[in-house]
Amino acid sequence: MAELSDTQKAELKQKLLTLRDDLEQILAASRAGAQPVDLDQPIGRLSRMDALQQQELTKASRDGAKRRLQLVDSARQALRSNRYGECRRCEEPISLARLQAQPETPFCLDCQGRIEKEH
Ligand SMILES: [Zn+2]
Repeated sequence: MAELSDTQKAELKQKLLTLRDDLEQILAASRAGAQPVDLDQPIGRLSRMDALQQQELTKASRDGAKRRLQLVDSARQALRSNRYGECRRCEEPISLARLQAQPETPFCLDCQGRIEKEH
């Protein structure tokens, strides 16, 4: 990837590492999950619904964090093999602004938009 300078790559690599730590913290924190929330809640029909809802939310954010973690890992792999910053779909370079906002993204903005429409 000639489009990214070494400095930019180093910067993005650091961002990926930070993001990875954050995501792992989210996963570690939510693994203990729902329980501390449940303890604070009064017993009853509504609180049971709340607890279930909370569990759903925790699950959703865990799934999201896991998916993102996978993207972070493949982005780091791409960095090592010098293909970082290249859209995995159209192979065009991903804009630096996009990488800075979302360093783990495997797609350029155009492809991301198309993928979202397909789903
Ligand atoms: Zn693309």
